[in-house]
Amino acid sequence: MGDQAYEIRGDELPIGQYSYKEFRDMATLFHNYPAPGLMLGGYMVEAAKALMADDVLYEVLAETPWCLPDAAQMLTPCTIGNGWLKVVNLGRYAVSLYDKHTGEGVRVSVCPKKLEEYGEFKTWLYKLKPKPEQDTPLLQRQIAMAGASVCNVERITVTKRTMKKRSKGGIIDCPVCGEPYPEFHGAICRACQGETPYVQSLTKTTPIEVPEAIKSVPIEEAVGEEALHDMTRIEPGKSKGPAFKKGHTFEVGDLCRLQRIGKNSVYVAEGDVGEGWVHENDCARSFAAAMCGENVAAKAEPSEARWR
Ligand code: ZN
Repeated sequence: MGDQAYEIRGDELPIGQYSYKEFRDMATLFHNYPAPGLMLGGYMVEAAKALMADDVLYEVLAETPWCLPDAAQMLTPCTIGNGWLKVVNLGRYAVSLYDKHTGEGVRVSVCPKKLEEYGEFKTWLYKLKPKPEQDTPLLQRQIAMAGASVCNVERITVTKRTMKKRSKGGIIDCPVCGEPYPEFHGAICRACQGETPYVQSLTKTTPIEVPEAIKSVPIEEAVGEEALHDMTRIEPGKSKGPAFKKGHTFEVGDLCRLQRIGKNSVYVAEGDVGEGWVHENDCARSFAAAMCGENVAAKAEPSEARWR
C-alpha cells in the first residue's frame, strides 16, 4: 500500500496561498516526494505565519530535522543557509516562528488528543504499523482534511542564546590540513580535532586534478584571433543560430556584433588550452559515433556542439 499515490478530490485544505495540489507539486520538486511530514509541515508553518504580524521580521526554529525544516524553507524566506532557520533536534514535531528582534512568536505542535479522529494519521506519527502496511493514500487524505486542526498553537519567547547571531569570527589556516576555518573552533580545525566524517586520513586525501581554466580575452583584444567555439545569437521569436563559427577570425567590424549578442570577452584558439579540455564539437562527434548504427547516421558537421 505504501507506494500508492493519493488522488486529489479538490476539497483538500489549501496551504497558505497554495492549493493542495500546488503545494504537493512544490514538495515533489523540493523534497523529491510529497512526504506526509512535509504536507503536515506545510499546514503547520502556514498556521504559524498567519499568527505573525505582517511587519515582523521573523526567524524559524524547527524542533526536528525531519521534513518540517523543508516546509519552512519552501514557505518562508528562512533557510538553513541564510541562518534564519535553526534546527534544534528535540525530537518533537513542532515549529516556531519568532520576531528576530524580540524573540516573541508562536509555536505549532502536533496534539495527540486531536489526532484521535484520524486513525491513519496517528498510525503514521506513532509508527504503529510498519510502513508497507500503512495506507498512504488514506494518510494523505487525512492530513489534507485535518490541516493544522490537529495542532496546538501557543505563544512563546525564545531564549537570548537562540537569537544570537551566528558569526564565524576570525578565519585562520589550520596548521594540520592547511584549510581556512573559524579561529574560535580551536588551535586546529574541527575536522583535524577528530570530527571528520571521512574515512581517509585527513593529511592524505587525494587531490583531484582540475584542468586549468581556458583563458578568455576582452573583445577589443580579439581582433585577428580565431573563435574557439560557435557562438549563438538568439533573436527572441525569430531565430537562433550561430553568429560566429569556430575558426572565424575576428575583425574590427565584429566587435559590435559580439557586444550585441552579449559577449564582452571571448575564448580564442590560442593553443594554450591545457590537456583535460575537450572541444564541444569533439564531444558531439563522440556522442554521434556512439548513437549511430544501423539506419542512423550523422550528416555534415556539428554546429554549436549539436548535430541537427
Ligand atoms: Zn584541519
